[in-house]
Amino acid sequence: MLHPGDDGFDEAGEGWLRTVTHRPAAVMIATCAEDVVEAVRFAVKEGRPVAVQSTGHGVSVPADDAVLINTSRMRHLTVDPAAGTARIGAGLRWEDVIAATAPHGLAPLCGSSGGVGVMGFLTGGGLPLTCRTHGFAAGHVRSLDIVTADGQVRTVSDSREPELFRAARGGKGNVGIVVSAEIVLVPSRTIYGGLLAFPGLRAAEVLHAYGDWTRVQPDTVSSSVTLLCFPDVPQLPAEFRGRSVVQVRVIDTGDGSSAGPLRALGPESDTFGAMPYAGITGIHQDPKGPVTSHLRSALLRDLDGDAVETLVANMVAPFNVELRQLGGALDRPASHAVSTQGAAFHLWVRMPAGAEEQAATLLERLRPWDTGAMLPGFLFDADADPARVRRAYSATDYARLVAVKRRYDPANVFRINHNIPPGDEII
Ligand SMILES: Cc1cc2nc3c(=O)[nH]c(=O)nc-3n(C[C@H](O)[C@H](O)[C@H](O)COP(=O)(O)OP(=O)(O)OC[C@H]3O[C@@H](n4cnc5c(N)ncnc54)[C@H](O)[C@@H]3O)c2cc1C
Repeated sequence: MLHPGDDGFDEAGEGWLRTVTHRPAAVMIATCAEDVVEAVRFAVKEGRPVAVQSTGHGVSVPADDAVLINTSRMRHLTVDPAAGTARIGAGLRWEDVIAATAPHGLAPLCGSSGGVGVMGFLTGGGLPLTCRTHGFAAGHVRSLDIVTADGQVRTVSDSREPELFRAARGGKGNVGIVVSAEIVLVPSRTIYGGLLAFPGLRAAEVLHAYGDWTRVQPDTVSSSVTLLCFPDVPQLPAEFRGRSVVQVRVIDTGDGSSAGPLRALGPESDTFGAMPYAGITGIHQDPKGPVTSHLRSALLRDLDGDAVETLVANMVAPFNVELRQLGGALDRPASHAVSTQGAAFHLWVRMPAGAEEQAATLLERLRPWDTGAMLPGFLFDADADPARVRRAYSATDYARLVAVKRRYDPANVFRINHNIPPGDEII
């Protein structure tokens, strides 16, 4: 256990997103489940809350006066090629799992960034890049080893403590600290994917065409569109300064014919083509970080003509907004605590620090299309209020999560997160 002033103490709390600074009372840099158990028991004895951080991509509230468990050294990983599964440690990032599984012709259901941590992703439900083909990544978890607030390590699955297993796949760190997961992999066969870029001046035309195109795509096609406007400032490389761009990303696990109508629009660059599944995180080109961005999200019921016009009218630098098409396999019944609640698109607003008002204005103007719900995996520091956290779950899921929280963490030891208070009233 590290205490303030010890070597490595300050660094252990630093992460990808630098909008939150932690001032914990103690830090455990865990290498195994026993370290996590020791830290949880220590925190309970001292009457302190427990915080967990792997990469810091999904920060919520400062871990002040808490016992912070840094899992980044829990890097165990075994692949069972015959079963098509992997057992992965809590400190891994998706890029680690991709590298270890690719030689076996297998791949995990990861998201847009290889740098995101596996357990933050899976406990938030995990919206993979192939979401319309495969559904949430949480639905491809076979079992979890989880340390609960009583300091026990439990192996949970559909047949062992199924309610806890369900809650941990969507409820983020609220019900315990996951130390290891057994995940089902997919074949890393050839798929079709890439990015088509258009000048920002064509944003309305491209976005209208994209909206129409998404309406006729089969479940084998997942996609997103990002609208980017860069300010004309000397700190930026010349090729970005004052420019705006529309990027459409397509991932097709079918025959690759989907991109035809988008290509017919005449993009200024186009990387769409055959590629191995394992190359999937190269498509989005997410920043390696660290960053101080202001991140907000929403779920939209539609991307109709008026929504397109509203988005385009608000495209003023600095602007970085992504829309991901939902539906497909995401709408099938599943046994985890995450759902899109019927939304058609996920909206992710990624503004630089200082542009908070612009982000709020955009969300306000998009309110007619906003379902009011959110995805737990896309809650960040602006969403730490439990009333906002509640929006990330259907009423049924939230009630079940509160029941699990009451049973396994009645004292709310795990509260340095997007918190589900055990005493929360269930309507
Ligand atoms: C650039 C970028 C791209 C992204 N792309 C996608 C995407 O394509 N799809 C998607 O679904 N999400 C995506 N996300 C969201 C991401 O999945 C969440 O922010 C996730 O929480 C990050 O996990 P982490 O471990 O990297 O971050 P951390 O900040 O270390 O952890 C975030 C939270 O996850 C929980 N957590 C972490 N580890 C554990 C554990 N061992 N046990 C229990 N709880 C734990 C805790 O609540 C913790 O506060 C993206 C985020 C970023 C910044």
